[in-house]
Amino acid sequence: KLSHRLEAVANNIPEGTRLADIGSDHAYLPCNVVKKGTVSMAIAGEVAEGPFQSALEQVREESLIDKISVRKGDGLEVIQPGEVDCVTIAGMGGTLISTILEQGKSKLEGVSRLVLQPNVGSFAVRKWLIGNGWELIKEEILEEDRKIYEILVAEKGEPMKPYQHINFENGILFGPFLLKEKPEVFKEKWNAEKRNWERILKQLDEAVQNEDTESKRQELKTKLKMAEEA
Ligand code: SAM
Repeated sequence: KLSHRLEAVANNIPEGTRLADIGSDHAYLPCNVVKKGTVSMAIAGEVAEGPFQSALEQVREESLIDKISVRKGDGLEVIQPGEVDCVTIAGMGGTLISTILEQGKSKLEGVSRLVLQPNVGSFAVRKWLIGNGWELIKEEILEEDRKIYEILVAEKGEPMKPYQHINFENGILFGPFLLKEKPEVFKEKWNAEKRNWERILKQLDEAVQNEDTESKRQELKTKLKMAEEA
């Protein structure tokens, strides 16, 4: 059984697609969607030897070796152009996810959907999508084991569309759909961030004042203002 987080990722993989799950670790996600029949085949990509072996083991154990190809390599280098329709990248930081997408751009031709689950720094993913012709079509936020996760779903389209009637900077940081819908978990996340920023600001106020503390204070004040607006 998948974690709620991976279940939510799986639910955004369209029926009948061919999947590449990059940074697959135990290959739980591809095994699950292949068994359910959601996807016809899958590639599980892993850069590290340990997780690569775990993926192989899992796929063998579940007798899925004819439907899931476990490949070792960095990011999207494990796929050929046109080989898959959907790419999932989950459980990493947003910066790493956007680096993987950027370096593997040429492999995304023919891919119609990206399902991305950054643990932190989702703004980096949103920025990459905008710069590369991908339109965010849905965002989800969920809490599991006291951690909060975001899921970003994108398809080729009009990248600026979700940002049309909102403040762009806020949209990038908070997520255009999440900002509109403001789910309970979303409020929880940003209230916690806000408390954290306020705490740091207070410490800075008490510290020796110099250029560094001043610029940090300004940065935190800007973020606080954005969070309050949101
Ligand atoms: N996707 C799974 C999940 O969401 O539960 C596993 C997440 S795990 C925390 C991150 C995995 O990504 C690790 O197994 C790591 O080896 C792999 N990884 C990190 N950078 C990668 C890269 N550039 N290419 C492929 N895999 C990578």
